[in-house]
Amino acid sequence: MGDIIKLLPDHVANQIAAGEVVQRPASVVKELLENAIDAGSKAIKLIVKNGGKTLIHVVDDGLGMSETDARLSFERHATSKITKAEDLFKLSTKGFRGEALASIAAIAHVEMQTKLADAEVGTHLKIEGSKLIFQEVGAVPKGTSMAVKNLFFNIPARRSFLKSDTVELRHITDEFHRVALAHPQIGFHYYVNGGELFGLPISNLRQRIVHIFGSKANQKLVPVAEDTQVVKISGFINKPAFAKKSRGEQFFFVNNRFIKSPYLHHAVVSAFEGLVKPNSHPGYFLYLDVDPASIDINIHPTKTEVKFDDEHTLYAILRSAVKHSLGQFHVAPPLDFEADPNLETPYAYKNKEAEFPKVTVDAGFNPFSESKSKSAGVATKSYQRAGKPNSGEQSWESLYVGLESKMGKDEGFSSIQFESDTITGSIFDGQSEAIESTAKTFQLRRKYIVTTIKSGMVVIDQSRAHQRVLYEKFLRNSTIKQAVSQQLLFPLSLSFSKADVTVLVEIKETLNAVGFVFDTMAEESVSVSGVPLLVTESEVGMVLDQLIADCQQEVTGENFSQTDILSKTLAKTLAVKTGEVLESASQLALVNDLFACKEPLVSPFHKPVYVTITESEIDKKFI
Ligand code: ADP
Ligand code: MG
Repeated sequence: MGDIIKLLPDHVANQIAAGEVVQRPASVVKELLENAIDAGSKAIKLIVKNGGKTLIHVVDDGLGMSETDARLSFERHATSKITKAEDLFKLSTKGFRGEALASIAAIAHVEMQTKLADAEVGTHLKIEGSKLIFQEVGAVPKGTSMAVKNLFFNIPARRSFLKSDTVELRHITDEFHRVALAHPQIGFHYYVNGGELFGLPISNLRQRIVHIFGSKANQKLVPVAEDTQVVKISGFINKPAFAKKSRGEQFFFVNNRFIKSPYLHHAVVSAFEGLVKPNSHPGYFLYLDVDPASIDINIHPTKTEVKFDDEHTLYAILRSAVKHSLGQFHVAPPLDFEADPNLETPYAYKNKEAEFPKVTVDAGFNPFSESKSKSAGVATKSYQRAGKPNSGEQSWESLYVGLESKMGKDEGFSSIQFESDTITGSIFDGQSEAIESTAKTFQLRRKYIVTTIKSGMVVIDQSRAHQRVLYEKFLRNSTIKQAVSQQLLFPLSLSFSKADVTVLVEIKETLNAVGFVFDTMAEESVSVSGVPLLVTESEVGMVLDQLIADCQQEVTGENFSQTDILSKTLAKTLAVKTGEVLESASQLALVNDLFACKEPLVSPFHKPVYVTITESEIDKKFI
């Protein structure tokens, strides 16, 4: 056989490289913004249409390029940022691989206009799928404008792999936040589908954070500052009390580059230990400056992973710096109302070792508990969230009071009626089992409810059971045109970041459908005047936080409707948890409600809800 090895043509090689560099529209945004920053821009504009699928346009006022460079910039390994291997160890630019533009041009329609500051005229060129369509001299503004259209136009498989516009836009916005947070000394404007989403003036870091995350962000911030030979740490952490259900506001920057580092993340989280509730996440914006020679950014094509020479030392310094700030925050004298206590270190503490703040955590604390049993000293809970202890018969129907008056029983209502209308009769109707009419329930280890059935016994996971009940209830409510909503006496005004409000606006209709009523939705706050029947006023903020977090986490797979996601989130957030004591009436009500569900066997998250153990299985154990 003869020689069979061939070199791949450039455009094929570029397409392959593009697979690594460009995963989704947000990757293009990152590369273009980084190029604009490397070009020394002071003002950068980002324009996006349809989640970046139809257009990503970045306009900067930076250096610009010469005519030759303009064409050359689209070649693979064409870069002005390094010239020799050693340069890799003293990087001060974002880019250096010279791959981004070549990759992007291989899989999209790209139009560029660029002009050097002191040149008379500039260059206008167009490339589609690595093919130069035209290049001409033209009168264009100083700086560079790069428009990327129809991403993945020549790779339909990749294009169809993209998520909805909403999800892709969220990734883009995340990327925008990261770049904007790393460069407060640059002004940014971000337009989405014709409207301005963010206008960020040149500012300091604190102002930049506030501009992005809303005016409420200011009061949450505690500065962190540590200067050692190995690393200089600066930035802010959020006060522990503001820890969120979602992991949204967590940012590391190394030499002004956003990076992901589970290891360093752990260092920060461990400093917060004991100060935040389990499952809530402290926010942070931390900037590490290290000698470029001591890191290797080259280990990931998207350059979000960094290898440090001395990770252990960095871990220890970071952890102690965060602890130190938390310590300061706790010891700051609260008497001086004028001064911002977060900004000052009391003189006496300046040279002292940071002390770990002592915080007593009530291990039994449960934010969901509404009543405390005084005698036992443990939280007991009425399973019915309306607060009244309920007998089995009353159980869930009481929650629909008012519904019948709004809806005629006939029109469409029957289709969504629960089987449990016959709840007082045989609960397991249509199934082979039946809870004995004299059944007693028993709570095992504050986790399971045990009860008897004809053929033996059933062990029910209380939290999953309640999730199932609530889930079906919310789904049902939202199917009814007029959701069951309770009016709040005074509308609640809640603060959110702009991005969070955008999410709420997107899912507003669905929120209405489950019973939320919004009076106003402003840029950074919403006013809520009605909430779903099962949500208490104090839970509204937390529930909305969780909803936003879940929507952001792309649970929005194509197969799920918003209603479904919302119902799941509400069910998860509001369900009784493991560890909660349930009164016997509540136990029985929960059991009855569960078996009135359409699918009592599995939780909304596809976990088993109960197991049955038959008499014969028990008998066998006694042989
Ligand atoms: P890299 O950034 O790794 O060098 P890119 O493919 O992103 O590779 O860009 C190639 C080159 O094109 C850069 O090195 C730079 O010289 C030039 N370039 C790209 N974008 C811009 C811009 N917005 N302004 C000025 N020059 C740019
Ligand atoms: Mg680049």
